[in-house]
Parts: sequence; C-alpha cells; structure tokens
Amino acid sequence: MTDLQSLKASAWRSIDSRKDWLIDIAKHILINPEPGFFEKKTASFVSDKLNELDIPHDSGIALTGLKGYLDTKRTGPTVAVIGELDSLRVAGHLYVDKETEAAHACGHHCQLAMMLGVAVGLRASGVLEGLSGRVALMALPAEEFIDVEHRYGLHNSGDIEFMAGKQEFLRLGAFDDVDMAMMTHTSLLGEGKFSLGGTSNGHVVKFIRFLGRASHAGGAPHAGINALQAANVALNALNAQRETLRNEDTIRLHGIMTLGGVSVSSIPAEVKYEGRVRGGTWDAIDDANQKMDRCLRAGTLAIGGQVEIVTLPGYMPLINNEHLMEMFSQNAADLVGDENVRQNPSHVNRGGSTDMGDLSQVMPVIHPYTGAATGSGHGVDYVIKDYTQAVINPAKAMAATVIDLLAGDSTQAHNVINNFKPNLSIDSYVSMQRSRLTEETYRVT
Ligand SMILES: [Zn+2]
Ligand SMILES: [Zn+2]
Repeated sequence: MTDLQSLKASAWRSIDSRKDWLIDIAKHILINPEPGFFEKKTASFVSDKLNELDIPHDSGIALTGLKGYLDTKRTGPTVAVIGELDSLRVAGHLYVDKETEAAHACGHHCQLAMMLGVAVGLRASGVLEGLSGRVALMALPAEEFIDVEHRYGLHNSGDIEFMAGKQEFLRLGAFDDVDMAMMTHTSLLGEGKFSLGGTSNGHVVKFIRFLGRASHAGGAPHAGINALQAANVALNALNAQRETLRNEDTIRLHGIMTLGGVSVSSIPAEVKYEGRVRGGTWDAIDDANQKMDRCLRAGTLAIGGQVEIVTLPGYMPLINNEHLMEMFSQNAADLVGDENVRQNPSHVNRGGSTDMGDLSQVMPVIHPYTGAATGSGHGVDYVIKDYTQAVINPAKAMAATVIDLLAGDSTQAHNVINNFKPNLSIDSYVSMQRSRLTEETYRVT
C-alpha cells in the first residue's frame, strides 16, 4: 500500500467508526430546518459538533456562517470543504416545520454531516501528519435565494450587503485565504451514486411592488387603481414573451406573489412579487431580464399607478474544475465502482442555480452530486432514502480528494492552482455584483 492509499484507508476507517454519529447529525438537522440567514440553531448545533472534534472555528460570519480549520502546521494551500446550513420553505413537506414552513427539501442537512465527516476522516491518527497546508471547514448560510423581501430588508438595514451566503462570504473576505473549494450535493437515486460535471444557470432576483390606489371595490372601483390587475397584465405579458426564449439559453422566468391585496372589499393598492430570471449565459439573462422589466412596466402602463422594480445580484453559472473532478471521480470510483460514477459534459445544465457558481468564477471548485434521494427536488416528497450514500460516501470521497491534494508537499493542490485561470478576482467579483443591484420606479401620471 502506498503512503497515499494508507492515509485514505485510515481516513475512511475513521469515518466508518463515526457512521452513526454523522448520520444522526444529518437527521437532527433535517427535523430542525431553518431557511437562509435564520440558521441560528443549525449553526450552533454544527458549532457544538466542531467543538466535539476540537476544531477551532469562527461563528456569526454573514450572520450565521461558521469557518474552522484543520491545520497540518506545514505550509501549503488551503482547501475548503463546504456545507450549506439553510433549508427551503416547502409547505406540506414530510419534515416541514409547521410554524415556519421550513423544510430540507434540497438535502442540505446531509452536507453539514459530510463536512463533519471529512473532518473526522482527516483527524484520524497520522493523516494530517502526511499532508501540508490547511483544510477550511465552512458551513455557509443562505444558498437558496428565497425570502427576497426579508433579505432586501437585511441589505437595507446594513446587516448584510449581498443576499446569499457565498456571495457575502466572498465580500467579507472569508474566502481570501482559501485556494480551492469543494462540496457535494444530494440528488435522486436514479442519477447514479455520484455524478460530476455540467453547469448551472446564472440568475438575477427580482423584488417588485405594484402600487395603485385603494377604494371601495363595490361602490367606487372607478376611483381606485387596481395593483392586482396591473400585476395580472404584467404576468400575462411575461407569459407572451416565452415564445421568444431560445431552448439553448435555458431561460426560466418564474416567481411568487407574496401580497395580492389586503381586503376583498377594497381595490388592491399594493401587490408584491418575488421573481427570478435564470439563464445559461449573461447575455441571455440580460435579454430576458429586460423583457421582464418591459412586461412589468406594461402592466402599470395599462392600469396606472406605479411599479418599483428592484433587481438583485443573483448567481453565476457553475464551472467545475477538471483537475479536481478527476481526483474526486477516481476516489468515488474506488468507493462505489466506476460504473456508478457519471460524468456530465460541461455544457449540461441542470436548470437550477447555486452560489457555488459565484465561487467558481474566482477559484477552482467542484460541486458533484450524490444520488441518495427520492421524490422531486424542492418538492413535498424530496427525502433521503440512502443515508450512507448521502453522508458517508461523499465524506469519504471528499476526504480522499483532500488527501490527494495536500499529500506530501501538496504537489497536486499546487498543480490545480497553477493551471487555474480565474474569470474574476474576488475584488472584481464584489464590484461587479455590487453594480448589478438596480432600483427603478416606473410611474404613470
Ligand atoms: Zn435547492
Ligand atoms: Zn441545494
């Protein structure tokens, strides 16, 4: 057995010895779901677990985020292993919090257990001694870009600037000392035990208020300006635009109405809409976003009143680093067999979006999937069926990849860094995202 193989074998034995502990962590988080920037209990639970493992860490980064280190005490690059703290809100989910409608319908509860599993593996006797550099263990808030009005409020009150976890970590400098990053996301059982590669949609996020004038809905509707009708016209116009969208741009125009009026007998004077414009390229997103804005103005032009259009900096398309993918897939194949590791070409777009896309613009990252769930992602029936594949195997694959990267003098990690050309520096990323926040009021006089 080579040194590398024996380091990996020790790490995997250690992870196996804590299998129940790790799976119980995931299940505890599953039944205590908290959406982005509300993850106080989740963060303190993960912090307790890091303490149990004697891992020093900071907390409260971007409100709820955590960052700890495993330090080999030898000079070398820093590799981050990321878990996401947040849940969604999905009414009716099997494990929903009935008060908040929070639910782990995207499997993020498993990621935190995976991250702790990597820590368990690397802390096995003798492993860190064989490596150089550091491992940053990072639990990040708010990957799901939901609760848009609330987050825009946090932005306006100065609690956060960017409204998603990795964006805000980047702005705060929490990735300044990180050279590359990895995380593994759960996916459906049918997608293979591991699947790698492909990309994701980028997006911009919309917060819209249609403002009209209240009046008696029976006695004096002519005296009012119906904001709900303005929204109806706008959304119909948006639907009419769909025939102009090209399949290859993978545009998704969607949203929710969070306020449609306040009493049935009064003409709605205020309507709120949270929306999303997703697409595979910036040009396509810009084009679709301009169409959406025209439709929003058109609703107001037809009915009257005014519309406030806030466009928030959303996510960037994901670029998976080839070198990191090669290492991860070899380790995944050693665990589950070559035939159970799928490779997707880089253009294959899942349609969703992730702020790992943002990180991938500034440093090498991988965002593989582990097939362990049934149901529909973000749906009421998305549940993990195979916790070994959801937590233990990805922890092992990532621990082994960290070992590949940092073994000896961390030659492989240096290779990854030397062969990587970022699209943006962190500073230019922050300036660019900052410039993408726009606010417009369109008024019919
Ligand atoms: Zn999700
Ligand atoms: Zn997710």
